[in-house]
Amino acid sequence: MGVADLTPWQDIILQTPFLLFTATVILALRFNQTRVIYIVLFLALAWASTGKVENIDYFSFHPSLFFISQLLVLMAFSFDQNKVVWGRHGLLRILILFALLAINYRFNQSITVNEWLSAQVLPTGSESKLSPYFQIEFIVSALCLFTLAIRQVLKPSQLNASIWALAFGVIVMNFGDFTYHTIILSYCLFGVLIIHAVLTDSYQMAFSDELTGLSARRALLQSSISLGKKYTVAMMDVDHFKKFNDTYGHDVGDQVLRLVASKINGVKGGGKAYRYGGEEFTIVFPNKSVAYAIPFLEQVREEIANYQMAIRSDDRPEDKKQGKSDRKKSKAASKFVNVTISIGVAEREGNLKEFDQVLKQADEALYRAKQAGRNCLAE
Ligand code: GH3
Ligand code: MG
Ligand code: MG
Repeated sequence: MGVADLTPWQDIILQTPFLLFTATVILALRFNQTRVIYIVLFLALAWASTGKVENIDYFSFHPSLFFISQLLVLMAFSFDQNKVVWGRHGLLRILILFALLAINYRFNQSITVNEWLSAQVLPTGSESKLSPYFQIEFIVSALCLFTLAIRQVLKPSQLNASIWALAFGVIVMNFGDFTYHTIILSYCLFGVLIIHAVLTDSYQMAFSDELTGLSARRALLQSSISLGKKYTVAMMDVDHFKKFNDTYGHDVGDQVLRLVASKINGVKGGGKAYRYGGEEFTIVFPNKSVAYAIPFLEQVREEIANYQMAIRSDDRPEDKKQGKSDRKKSKAASKFVNVTISIGVAEREGNLKEFDQVLKQADEALYRAKQAGRNCLAE
């Protein structure tokens, strides 16, 4: 039995990474995730300089210098934000990529750079079989993975996770010895990873609420489709929130909304929290009755009512010196406020078959809770 003849496919396989990169750029533009574009440009450059692309293998960079500058660029791009593609912001990114090329082109034969890169910083045995560049490469790799991991912890997103995976892949490819086909496959995989990141992050943006981090109304309506025959819905509304905003300002209002949201999100008993809009929240208990849900809802309501929220007072001193001397005092002086919420709850039963009917019923119950004096629950 012979091996299948893949010759006719060679050309297509060779082009696949570029096809994937193009698709990624189109998606990124479509979803306004411009920072992806520079990462894809970076990938295309890295792919081209692996020497596997016809006509571009005359780059002949210093492998170690190129490897290290690639990691530095990845680190820099992980701090990027989505802005307009054209203009100063975009130009700077293109310049960074151009600098990557220019520096590698300029210094590929430099003796000084070569000395730096082969410096032995870590103590090793006298006869190391490793490449002379290993130590510096290893240190930069570790630093890069560490920085990107911290980045992901501080500002988690699928794209940041993918950049980490990309750096990891570049590092593995640097230290390992891989065949031509494995390298093509890796770059295809990088393309798919970035596409996945663009889609996941866009989904996340559309379905979660920016202010509170809770799932948004769109997610509520989406998940209502897959609710079974039995579920309970609670509508919650912050009491006298308009007055609160008027007294303390919109910023403090936002601060309080975040706190309220985090308490609501902590609901037990299998409830899932959403920000319905404004200062209104929804909790859905799939497969549960009203009787089951009430104790958990009451727990949330009481927790919010009993919580002393410390708010940063608005009237900070203008003068910085004054500000410093006042800091201790102002800590004690920072105000504590209380907010309460009212809850209306309803269950899918009888002729309440559609989700929006149950939601409406819960909203009517909420109105009764407000009538009953607020900070209470009605069904
Ligand atoms: P009630 O007890 O009857 O619910 O009184 P209320 O003042 O809370 O009722 P209303 O629904 O009239 O007011 C809601 C207010 O919530 C209006 C708006 O000022 C405020 N609000 C809505 N969304 C936001 C937001 O995202 N941030 C802030 N700070 N305030 C918001
Ligand atoms: Mg309201
Ligand atoms: Mg309200």
